[in-house]
Amino acid sequence: MPGARPPASGLVASMPTRLPEEPIPPKQADEAFFAVWNLLESVADPEIPVVNLREMGILRAVRDGADGLEVVITPTYSGCPAMSQMHNDVVHALSNAGVSAQVLTQLAPAWSTDWMTAAAHDKLRTYGIAPPQPTGCAAGANVVEFAAKKRAVSPEQTVACPQCGSDNTTEISHFGSTACKALYRCLSCQETFDYFKPY
Ligand SMILES: [Zn+2]
Repeated sequence: MPGARPPASGLVASMPTRLPEEPIPPKQADEAFFAVWNLLESVADPEIPVVNLREMGILRAVRDGADGLEVVITPTYSGCPAMSQMHNDVVHALSNAGVSAQVLTQLAPAWSTDWMTAAAHDKLRTYGIAPPQPTGCAAGANVVEFAAKKRAVSPEQTVACPQCGSDNTTEISHFGSTACKALYRCLSCQETFDYFKPY
């Protein structure tokens, strides 16, 4: 719908490069974009309902495109059954709010667990899932840094139990409730838990 979109000056350059973990300043010129970012805060990850798509790093950008507002998402694992649901959920959230925007799926660069925000890690832990450790890939300077483990052992061996925090855990199965997760057991409290595998 031509004419309904906000002026593009300056926005095309600034919005797409903004990473989701950065707070979006509610500048006057950014109002339409800010509103959409806020609106999409309500869209939860299909598999982990306590975390929203922005916190998962799935929501990549809200920008001014050739045909109006564009929302760019990068789904998690391309083989994940939740892939099309994420797209549909964003489309529905926008249309329910009366926002006219195109939802684009961007597959490159591929989504990484490194894009998950610190808030997502906290929520996962509270939910009983051990958050992924950094992949070690140099994905860019904007990746959130996590406290490094002091011991230099393989990452698989230092998955902390989300229940008691113990590092004394062991992998039971490389595939847990979904292919994205591994099943672990804590040898301290004996609880089993999912570990969100770094990707
Ligand atoms: Zn434990």
